[in-house]
Amino acid sequence: MKKMIKILALVCVFAALSVCFVGCGEEAANTNVIKFGTNAEFPPFEFVKGDGSFDGIDIQIANLIAADNGMTPEIVNMEFDSLLVALENGQVDAVIAGMTVKPERAEKVDFSISYYQATQVMIVKEDSTIAKASDMAGKKIAVIQGYTGEVCVQKMGYEYTSFKKGTDAVMELANGKADVVVIDSATAAKYVADNKDLKIVEDATAFEGEEYAIAVKKGNKELLDKINASLQELLDSGKISELGAQYAVAE
Ligand code: GLN
Repeated sequence: MKKMIKILALVCVFAALSVCFVGCGEEAANTNVIKFGTNAEFPPFEFVKGDGSFDGIDIQIANLIAADNGMTPEIVNMEFDSLLVALENGQVDAVIAGMTVKPERAEKVDFSISYYQATQVMIVKEDSTIAKASDMAGKKIAVIQGYTGEVCVQKMGYEYTSFKKGTDAVMELANGKADVVVIDSATAAKYVADNKDLKIVEDATAFEGEEYAIAVKKGNKELLDKINASLQELLDSGKISELGAQYAVAE
């Protein structure tokens, strides 16, 4: 009988303990989650793998920032155009999406230090006569909606068609329905590597340099300081250049 009571007591203790573990664990995980908004249509920075998971330079940076601050990262995938609104609404805590720092954007959100330098380039067919930006005059230009490439072409005063995804614009070019796609350099390199019929044309006089940074809600200094400290470490240690090199060749 005594033994029975002892066993019962032990069972109770275990039950109580496990409730606490489950309860406390969940609470800790919830409070420590950091939600990163992205648009996983922008290789090598963010893309969806065959198994449905997210990968890319930005995804790895997000994971490293979270780990550095004892947080659990969660990737929230949405349209590029919706990212800054999602941040303002509190739907996500930060946006990491190969996003170029632009004054119009900086009015709505706060940007971290920059972690990558890019520029716009033109993707054309191998036999194209387009050799500089002004050669796009009168040509069928494809851009991606809301990207800085669209803004550039708009400012140059050319007509263009905008697509929802980079792959759609490149498909249009490959099918001969567009003459040129204006898009970010590293992403262009990825698309061209996959299609031998295409090449990249650069024009440094027409397209200025762009800086990618992480965005947070305006005034969220606490999170911005954490992100900046982690980013600085990742830049100093060479981890970001390492990721850049790794994903330039990886699928
Ligand atoms: N760098 C470009 C921009 O900020 C494109 C970014 C992206 O498509 N993810 O508009």
